[in-house]
Amino acid sequence: MSESRNAPNVDVDNAALTLEVDVDGIARLTFDRPDSKANILTAGVMARLDALLSEIEEGARGARIRVLVIQSGKPGMFIAGANVDEILGISDPAEGEAKAREGQRIFTRIEKLQIPTIAAINGVCLGGGTEMALVCKYRIAADAPEMKIGLPEVQLGIIPGFGGTVRLPRLIGLTAALPMILTGKTLNAKRAQRAGLIDERVHPAILAERVTQVARERAAGGKAPEHKLSRLARMTDATPVKSVVLWQARKQVMKQTRGKYPAPLAALDTIDKTLGEPVDKALAVEARALGRLVVTDVSKNLIHVFKLMEAAKKASPAAAPLPFKSVAVVGAGVMGGGIAQLLAHRDLAVRMKDIRADALAHGLRTARELFDSMVKRSSLDKRTAGQKMDRIAPTLDYSGFGAVDLVIEAVVERMDIKQAVLRETAEHVRDDCVLTSNTSTLSITEMQKPLAHPEHFCGMHFFNPVHRMPLVEIIRGSQSSDQTLATVFALARRLDKTPLIVNDGPGFLVNRVLSPYLNEAGWLLGEGASIEAVDRALVDFGMPMGPFRLLDEVGLDVARHAAGVLHDAFGERMQPAPTLVALQQTKRLGKKGGVGFYTYEDGREKEVDATVYTELGATVPTVRKEMSSDTIRDRLLLVMINEAALALQDDIVSKAGDVDLGMITGTGFPPFRGGLLRYADTVGLPVILQKLSHYERDKGARYQAAQLIRDRAAAGRGFYD
Ligand code: NAD
Repeated sequence: MSESRNAPNVDVDNAALTLEVDVDGIARLTFDRPDSKANILTAGVMARLDALLSEIEEGARGARIRVLVIQSGKPGMFIAGANVDEILGISDPAEGEAKAREGQRIFTRIEKLQIPTIAAINGVCLGGGTEMALVCKYRIAADAPEMKIGLPEVQLGIIPGFGGTVRLPRLIGLTAALPMILTGKTLNAKRAQRAGLIDERVHPAILAERVTQVARERAAGGKAPEHKLSRLARMTDATPVKSVVLWQARKQVMKQTRGKYPAPLAALDTIDKTLGEPVDKALAVEARALGRLVVTDVSKNLIHVFKLMEAAKKASPAAAPLPFKSVAVVGAGVMGGGIAQLLAHRDLAVRMKDIRADALAHGLRTARELFDSMVKRSSLDKRTAGQKMDRIAPTLDYSGFGAVDLVIEAVVERMDIKQAVLRETAEHVRDDCVLTSNTSTLSITEMQKPLAHPEHFCGMHFFNPVHRMPLVEIIRGSQSSDQTLATVFALARRLDKTPLIVNDGPGFLVNRVLSPYLNEAGWLLGEGASIEAVDRALVDFGMPMGPFRLLDEVGLDVARHAAGVLHDAFGERMQPAPTLVALQQTKRLGKKGGVGFYTYEDGREKEVDATVYTELGATVPTVRKEMSSDTIRDRLLLVMINEAALALQDDIVSKAGDVDLGMITGTGFPPFRGGLLRYADTVGLPVILQKLSHYERDKGARYQAAQLIRDRAAAGRGFYD
């Protein structure tokens, strides 16, 4: 799975794969695609591989070739998988099945070679790359930081189709293979070796040397140590234990996906039918399942999202970013603490400043707890976690600020305070230091006005919780320079976040679009809908949580503040629902205070707190009213779609894909829907317009359709056309 390629390019495909045989009879099949950083298995590359395999088989028969090494010519990259555009182009299940059969046939030729075969895995090894490694008799991997091996096909709504579901469980056992196949989880070299997926791991600097050594030994008749599944794995894979493992896995998948994603379920079915069966028969079952999945809307939507994410990584402004090694965070609160931890985790030197010692202590504790939980999950060893934690230097003054390259301001959400803090900070940093604000709603253009170097300033908006939410909105103020944006973009990438550059405007993109959705939930409450019914309707649609649960998560005070800013900016359309206004008179803060719409115990949600209805007084009817989940879902999604259209009209972002990327990575909008506006296109803009008009008659300005929707509906176009 990797970069997109549009038209087939025979010359490039042929040049992507070369075969050389040395005097010792060691054949090296080298993948090195000339026009790309990644090696991808296009149909053309597979055809070339097929042709070269005839040569290899011939050489092996005549003893001219004694060993085959499969390797890559690219640094840190073995094979990234198949070509997503080719997968996207398949519209007939029979075609999908045939393509899988063809790939399986070619890989089986490698498996059946009568000579030793060695995969020299020097880095990223995904999808078809892993399936190719699986047909080799021996696998050596570089213990490099970029090394990861896995089968991420489910993330594209399909299953591995070149033998992955068949060979992986046979090689490493069902229990180890299932998480990889069902979630797309990848392994680093150490874990892959522990699982038995690779036979050896070596320092990247000696990979080539070690591969040659092993190849020579094998050419001289040395045998590979026999690969054996552990006794436990052999036992697990035998029926009836197998059925229990699969049953449990199915339960887990249903819990995580609520049945919205067909691929992991199809993978389980396939493995259930094929484990223990002859490989030939098993491969046929796998190919058929792949054919069925590859044409589903879910798969097409997930590939659409994958492409949006890949494009986002490359969407930096053309200017060269300034280098950064040291970053300061001003404000050690909820966000500052999380941001400092993330910076330290990515090995940047961090100064964390606050005006209160207790706030600094709290910020440090937040960071330490995050590192501790990584140690607990074995994603970091204790020593490294300690070293990373030591990178955060707390301070109550500006000492050390002269050496920082970039500042992230995360103090309270007030324009006067932010402007004062930024002005003061600017006095202590170098002239070329980049300044940013993590504000969620305030104007970046306004904030940069008093600065001596406004061009060095922009917004850098993280989402809460920082370590988990993938999105960073980068906000261009009217005076922000391309170089500043490019630098902040590079930092976001360094932090492994999805950067989205947006223009300045109240709430920027994500909070602006989300706000009417949360507000409309408040209006529904006032019309008598129950909290449970509203949240259930949206969870059933695929949202990670319903709007009331989300309000609790965000914090009712934080949400209220944001809603106020947006109401001031946009007027009647964003008028807060009376229920949410009444909520301000209560002591409820949401999850952080232990009670909001729900009650919480130890940070876990317990149940809806029915007393909230009483506290909301006259803003809610005394009796809850039945409201269909279709109506609830329609109303909440319509106001979001409309606001997104208005944000496009206002040029906050320029294309539908940016909205969808933002809403998926910033709010968890369900990826299997392909994004908010892709969903709107699926429904059809004439239908959206007709529903908006219907509700406008009844509810007023909140539903007044954006001109963009009217124009596109009239022209028979969608958001993406
Ligand atoms: P917070 O109240 O938890 O933390 C703010 C911190 O800033 C406090 O520790 C306070 O002592 C400190 N502070 C105040 N004045 C200061 C000064 N002059 N110098 C240094 N430190 C100072 O707030 P938060 O939730 O972390 O939010 C911080 C910013 O991030 C706000 O702009 C907010 O809008 C934004 N934001 C918040 C969230 C969220 O969900 N909490 C999400 C995204 C963005």
